[in-house]
Amino acid sequence: MMHNLTLDSEPFIRIGFFVGILIIMALWETAAPCRPLTDSKTVRCFNNLSLILIDTVALRFLFPITAAGTAMFVESHNWGLLNNAGLPFWLTVAIGVIGLDFTVYLQHAMFHAIPAFWRLHRVHHTDLDFDTTTGIRFHPIEMFLSMIIKLAVVVVLGVSAMGVLIFEVLLNATSLFNHGNIRLPISMDRVLRFLIVTPDMHRVHHSVVIQEHNSNFGFNLPWWDRLLGTYCDQPEAGHKGMIIGLAQFRDPKRLTLLWLLALPFVGKNLRCTIDEPE
Ligand SMILES: [Zn+2]
Ligand SMILES: [Zn+2]
Repeated sequence: MMHNLTLDSEPFIRIGFFVGILIIMALWETAAPCRPLTDSKTVRCFNNLSLILIDTVALRFLFPITAAGTAMFVESHNWGLLNNAGLPFWLTVAIGVIGLDFTVYLQHAMFHAIPAFWRLHRVHHTDLDFDTTTGIRFHPIEMFLSMIIKLAVVVVLGVSAMGVLIFEVLLNATSLFNHGNIRLPISMDRVLRFLIVTPDMHRVHHSVVIQEHNSNFGFNLPWWDRLLGTYCDQPEAGHKGMIIGLAQFRDPKRLTLLWLLALPFVGKNLRCTIDEPE
């Protein structure tokens, strides 16, 4: 009963949180922006919102079942580690959420390290500004691969439907938050950084400087970067002085929606940037 309720209301919970947080972040960015924008906000918003729309429709068509639906199927067949571990429900939910978050961290590092995957993920990094809509700028093929990875983890780990729903709402919310072009007092950022990836922490990841954009891969929990040696505290040029984006894609006129969709397939050079000295 509880599970059916969760599954039926899942899309509404997710869309409600998404729209609500997007509006809050947009208002916050207007009231206390961190950096002046350099590119047309209208064009960037159009591109980024169009991408999330295309991603959502594509995933809906390509996958007959959602991650939460998969979790329920796995649970009913008693598959997956957590479904057979005999742990209290709250603990399986917590382990599921943390496990999925660690997967997203590893996946993000992999998308930077493997040249073919970097071709997809660089769409996210071509944004010349960094604001809440950057948090939804992903190529549909990257979203497709992310979904396959997520479903595999749900099946093997046996993440509950509740764990999946909490994780998806949380990841959506934190992605909008940590891409926010907002000013947080440094003292608050310092404390928050132990619990959650903050905008200052993730902005480093969007630096044009290669060493900086190959750090801070976390989206939700900030611990993985610190534990696994990919943490970078601050951008060398400072948050106001740093340049956002990729060195090879700096012409705003070329950053149209169609060009972003074609980006993984253009250019001969298949090298990724993770081990280039600069
Ligand atoms: Zn990245
Ligand atoms: Zn990002």
